[in-house]
Amino acid sequence: MEKSGQGCCSPRRVVLVPAPFQGHLNPMLYLGSILHSKGFSITVAYINFNSPDPSNHPDFQFLQIPFDPSELLQIYRGEYITFMLMLSEYCESPLLECFSQIKEKRDDSEKISCIIHDEFMSFSSAAATRLKLPSIIFRTSCSTTFISRHCLLHLTIEDLDSEELVPELPYPIRFKDLPLNTLGTLENFLKLVVNIENTRNSSAVIFNTMEFLEESSLAKIRRESHFPIFPIGPMHKIASASAGNLLEEDRSCLLWLNKQADNSVLYVSMGSVASMEEKDVTEMAWGLANSKQPVLWVVRPGSIKGYEWIESLPVGLMEAVRERGYFVKWAPQKEVLAHPAVGGFWSHCGWNSIVESLSEGVPMICQPCFGDQKVNARCLSHVWKVGLELRGNLERGEVEKTVKRLMVKDEGEEMRKRAMDLKRKVEISIREGGSSYSSMNELVGLIMSF
Ligand code: UDP
Repeated sequence: MEKSGQGCCSPRRVVLVPAPFQGHLNPMLYLGSILHSKGFSITVAYINFNSPDPSNHPDFQFLQIPFDPSELLQIYRGEYITFMLMLSEYCESPLLECFSQIKEKRDDSEKISCIIHDEFMSFSSAAATRLKLPSIIFRTSCSTTFISRHCLLHLTIEDLDSEELVPELPYPIRFKDLPLNTLGTLENFLKLVVNIENTRNSSAVIFNTMEFLEESSLAKIRRESHFPIFPIGPMHKIASASAGNLLEEDRSCLLWLNKQADNSVLYVSMGSVASMEEKDVTEMAWGLANSKQPVLWVVRPGSIKGYEWIESLPVGLMEAVRERGYFVKWAPQKEVLAHPAVGGFWSHCGWNSIVESLSEGVPMICQPCFGDQKVNARCLSHVWKVGLELRGNLERGEVEKTVKRLMVKDEGEEMRKRAMDLKRKVEISIREGGSSYSSMNELVGLIMSF
């Protein structure tokens, strides 16, 4: 059968504009691989910061957006929200320049079908309008985060400490769980939310989620939207190629996992952006050592504030953790989560980590740091009931207790069964006839109709 993107008339190209962070690049590159497998040619227009590695995707065309972000990064060091807001201001014209390059290089018969852009890269939709091209938004966080963010626009700071449930939301999310992002000023964050919500020029929205997982949130978005919504996750399970990594994977941990008993290891990772205070890491390490559970612990360089790596941990404590544990700087996370030895995942609750964990039936300890992580953690603990939440300052006794609850107690076993049930539902959703499978085909149909 003919592949969709090479249909009857002309070959078709889709231009992807990812946001420059690991948790945003990965799902966009997976989407590229999926669309490529359907016959579309793929161009990735990227910012020169956290750039993707073209060698992982020899079939894609990579174009750097001709804008130098180094000055912005210097000024807004770590204030990624403000950085993203500034990108929106400066990058529309440079992105248009990329299109001149695409036009110069492409075969005359080829048609550019549309731009698919990360929700943070809203300048892309303005560029698409100028080029008279349709644009599609890719929201890389979950659909419950999207509707929760909207609630932030009408609240006062005092509301944000409240334990009460937010009445507009279909799930038991408290005001204090709302996805306020502290990597920038509140004013700039709210401006970014307004940008993200502006769908005036968009033809559709894609989510890396599954219908069964967020049915009520997706239904609410559909009721309130004038365009189709495509929940097509988990994309890493559908794409044939790996997305690549910004840091080098230490694969030696897989050999260490091979020597551990099934479901015995707690995998610990805080993703690619979050960082922790030294005192919290020390409490965490004591709690882990005292729990006597095997631990595979990713400490990303620089993620303990003020330190290069793990040199802040006292030698005796390191020995206690190492007795049953293994440290790496970056792990092949998807393979780690799929390993039979891994029985739990202590995570900052980035959306990709959750999708990856649920796809392998691994229950979680949730330690959200900022933004959507708080909504995700609440869904894990109170909606899907496959997570235990640890919030606020860490204390070694509490850490030890929580680790044991997840890894050795009946309560953890029950959560593992529920997580395995979700894994089965994930498998069904991506099979022929499943919801993500069908949604993906509908998305391809829409792009072909442009
Ligand atoms: N990741 C990885 N190895 C690690 C830590 C993280 O491959 O040691 C990947 C993980 O699989 C996920 C991404 O980095 O795809 C992190 O995205 P997430 O949304 O979980 O968190 P973020 O980094 O955006 O906060």
